[in-house]
Amino acid sequence: MDKVKPGGITHVGIAVLDLEKAIADYSAIFDFGSVETMEVAYEGVKIALLKTGVSEIELLSPTNQDSSIGKFIREKGEGMHHLAIRVPDVSEAIESAKAIGMHVLDEKPRPGAKGAEAAFVHPKSFHGVLLEFYSR
Ligand code: ZN
Repeated sequence: MDKVKPGGITHVGIAVLDLEKAIADYSAIFDFGSVETMEVAYEGVKIALLKTGVSEIELLSPTNQDSSIGKFIREKGEGMHHLAIRVPDVSEAIESAKAIGMHVLDEKPRPGAKGAEAAFVHPKSFHGVLLEFYSR
């Protein structure tokens, strides 16, 4: 199985308690232009995308304390949640990761923001960082 060609960091996900406050605090130093926000109800999370040139900061705030972001903040506090790397094909990246014994959290691509496909790899398989394969 071939190795996956990384196409850059698409975004870094950061878990925050209060989305509006985090947007305001981040915007105090950087001029992000327009900030896109969206709610992903089935994941219990609100998202803001802050453009930083070629990649984005993805602020993630729980709307439900039992969501994965809610649990993350309860256990670890606010901070970096995941690193998203653009890949040519998310399904192939999943297969490549499984083939070398990585602990893949998604057997199939899941829907990401704006029609993207995504899949996560457990932090134990990536030196403590939750890795996201991302199609966009
Ligand atoms: Zn992400």
